[in-house]
Amino acid sequence: MAVEQTLSIIKPDGIQKNLIGEIYGRFEKAGLEVVAARMLHLSKDQAEGFYAVHSERPFFNDLVSYMTSGPVMISVLSGDEAVIKHRDLMGATNPADADSGTIRADFAMSIEENICHGSDATETAAVEINYFFGDDGVCPRTR
Ligand code: ADP
Ligand code: MG
Repeated sequence: MAVEQTLSIIKPDGIQKNLIGEIYGRFEKAGLEVVAARMLHLSKDQAEGFYAVHSERPFFNDLVSYMTSGPVMISVLSGDEAVIKHRDLMGATNPADADSGTIRADFAMSIEENICHGSDATETAAVEINYFFGDDGVCPRTR
């Protein structure tokens, strides 16, 4: 199995619900390691840039408002098959479709306010990690 890195964001509703430890615990139990982390209150420009791929979608303005409504916890996770493993832990985008026991099924309110973000492929992970961490701040794997 390949060791990968992926970008994780606990969105404003996850912070509001005080779920950082709960969510990090799930990552750690699944064998993922937090190798970088920062809490940020995103500016409109930062949120729009991060979600630029969705700029033509009808929900884009609402998504940017939501993502800038409070602080977020941004992390880089490392581990075997980290991208898909993290997506599996999150569950489907719409919590109504998410498997039970996933983060979104357990905590999300709606398809928009869905607690967490995870990169969808190794290529997008590299772009997203660079967006928030540049070349610095990601620690080498410790185990
Ligand atoms: P994911 O976060 O599962 O990769 P997408 O990349 O498709 O999902 O969408 C990015 C984010 O935009 C979602 O996590 C969610 O917050 C929001 N979103 C997606 N689809 C919708 C929708 N139909 N209505 C409102 N918000 C949406
Ligand atoms: Mg996505």
